[in-house]
Amino acid sequence: MLAAIQNTLNDLSHFLFPHTCLGCKTDQIAHSDVLCISCSSQLPTTGFMRIQHNATEQVFLPRIPIEAAGSLLYFNTKSTTQELLHHLKYKQYKEVGSYLGNLMGMEINDSNRFKNIDAIVPIPIHPKKLYIRGYNQAEVIAEGIAKFLHLPTINNWMIKTAAIASQTKKNRVDRWQSVDQTYSLNTSFRQNFRHILLIDDVLTTGATLETCARLFIEKGIKVSIATAAITI
Ligand SMILES: [Zn+2]
Repeated sequence: MLAAIQNTLNDLSHFLFPHTCLGCKTDQIAHSDVLCISCSSQLPTTGFMRIQHNATEQVFLPRIPIEAAGSLLYFNTKSTTQELLHHLKYKQYKEVGSYLGNLMGMEINDSNRFKNIDAIVPIPIHPKKLYIRGYNQAEVIAEGIAKFLHLPTINNWMIKTAAIASQTKKNRVDRWQSVDQTYSLNTSFRQNFRHILLIDDVLTTGATLETCARLFIEKGIKVSIATAAITI
């Protein structure tokens, strides 16, 4: 009897709130999936994790000595990538982060470029944003990666101290300085790790990731970088 009621409730819930693919909106997908098989196979993957001097590395290498870097997907407006990241950041769809993290973990694991990493460190978000969203999207992605690499995810080494109101009207130098003032290492930071993998959702100017990478490089720690997407 209880099972019958449960089934009816499930059917009703599926009718009222159909679970659909974030790409093509078909409802022919498993409840645990965020994309259908067809949309998953058509994701605009970069292949960067396996490629030396890729576009992600070229953002950082002229300015900071990173070990390796890569982004999983190209980000275009009105693309499936945009839809995925929009749902992760603004629609409380946390599973998208695990999905992207798992794909990144697989690619990093298959590549022989990300070697001897000790810990995965997501870029923090401001506590106010964390309160509103309920989770740090970079942290969810990092945990998805960690499962594949069998490494610890460390979330309390960096703190973000001030929210940046709007960066759109600032020039690159102004933006750099304002980012620089908002990240610092926490007192919980321990220097017994030699190589960390920094994680963020999207790579745009690279200012935030560079600022955070510098905090570790100045302490003699090697840094690699991975993002779910890169804007082009
Ligand atoms: Zn689809």
